[in-house]
Amino acid sequence: MRIITPQDFQTQRAPDDWVTGAVWMDRSPAGPSPDAGVFRVFFEPGARTNWHTHPEGQVLFIVSGTCRVGKENEPPVDVDAGSVVYFAPNEKHWHGANPDSYMVHAAVNPAANSNGGTDWLETVTDTQYANT
Ligand code: MN
Repeated sequence: MRIITPQDFQTQRAPDDWVTGAVWMDRSPAGPSPDAGVFRVFFEPGARTNWHTHPEGQVLFIVSGTCRVGKENEPPVDVDAGSVVYFAPNEKHWHGANPDSYMVHAAVNPAANSNGGTDWLETVTDTQYANT
């Protein structure tokens, strides 16, 4: 058993080549086994990640607010707090707050030791974000 306390987290603003808008992340340091990154992420209203993929997939737990999620070739959808969203390995997607409220989700990224478990891609345009 290994316990990571909030004092072990580093709160960092997500860099502008990963996200649009203000996004703050607390990341628990990855462990050797199971190799998984655990994050708490805050998005201001309208903020969202870039398009990206996870080599071993991802699980999101929506803690607060309404999450807007998108995948390729489909309109985005809004998901209420209390919901869980799974992404398959290498499924191209994005996630963020809807325009009306901030949003906080927990994220678990398997295979996080190599690159944080995320491969970052292009920006989500305002049109892609708004096309619900
Ligand atoms: Mn993701």
